Amino acid sequence: METSNRACVWVAAKTLEVQERPIEPVGDNDVLVQVISTGICGSDCHNWESDKVSRQLVLGHESSGIIKEVGKAVTDRVVGQRVAIEPGFACMTCEFCAKGNPNICANLKYCGLDPTDGTLCQYFTCRSSMTVPIPENISWEEAGAIQPLAIAVQLARRASLNSHQTLAIFGCGPLGLLILAVAKAYGVRKVVMFDIEQSRVDFAVKYGADAGIVPPRREESVEPLSFAQDYSASLIKDLGLGSGFDVSVEASGAEVCAQMAICLLKNGGTCIQAGLGKSLTSIPLFLLTAKELNLKGTVRYTPGCFADAIDLLSRKKVDLKPLITSTYPLTKCGEAFEAQHSRKDIKIVIMNQE
Ligand SMILES: [Zn+2]
Ligand SMILES: [Zn+2]
Repeated sequence: METSNRACVWVAAKTLEVQERPIEPVGDNDVLVQVISTGICGSDCHNWESDKVSRQLVLGHESSGIIKEVGKAVTDRVVGQRVAIEPGFACMTCEFCAKGNPNICANLKYCGLDPTDGTLCQYFTCRSSMTVPIPENISWEEAGAIQPLAIAVQLARRASLNSHQTLAIFGCGPLGLLILAVAKAYGVRKVVMFDIEQSRVDFAVKYGADAGIVPPRREESVEPLSFAQDYSASLIKDLGLGSGFDVSVEASGAEVCAQMAICLLKNGGTCIQAGLGKSLTSIPLFLLTAKELNLKGTVRYTPGCFADAIDLLSRKKVDLKPLITSTYPLTKCGEAFEAQHSRKDIKIVIMNQE
């Protein structure tokens, strides 16, 4: 029986501690997972930077591991099974859960989100239904990035992404790159990526984007809307896109990108807002009416997204290895968060047992 449970605990702004935490008891419908790998996410880092926490919180929500114990009523999981952990504790009874959207559950608790402890620990107890089996041919490093890939799968669902479309993605961070990976796996006709850093754009092109662009900066004297419209018009012409993109994804959080993501769309196109920018952003709403555009949000994942992400990895339709640029032992989680904060890595994965 496991007795030690080291956990990465956020105790104050930019301060983590490795603490011993009790292992939660395994209920009849639960499983105990020995957590092997956990990706660090921008949102973990965002938490870590702030001091807004009600209690000492275990971080982490992108984990996979091995089942060590199953509850009495669990029939579809076995000890020794490799699984990814879905980090959302949805109530499954509210009106949103009842309609099949537990990602927007009214009573959602989420790993690593105050006040719910996360998965950056050695042993994690959860409902068996929150675990999704993963085959042997997926490495533990990659398994630490299944959750963000599932987020990209959900975004593709929101956009009804298919092989006949052209796609613009703003932001070449991990989310933008994972959306690129899913889009390529789905055979999307043309994917163009944007970022303000040339090195990130270069990486996106190496990772499969059809084009990568660092947009010019707007001169103070140019009005923001005409800048976005003029730039979009010239870009569409240069790229030979006819009347514009079918789908755009805003994954940078920058206001100018939100504006361009709308201006670049053809009539009837779809813009997915995935970045978290400032709380009030100015966008050309009149174009939504004039071009009958769809503007949609996307958050977390819905049933089946994890299984789809695992399937893409297992069939080698998506390769996460180039994105995982560093691994750290859990005992050095502080260093890992510093590295994540400095943005030199693309994706950092923590090995929870080390
Ligand atoms: Zn995340
Ligand atoms: Zn619910």
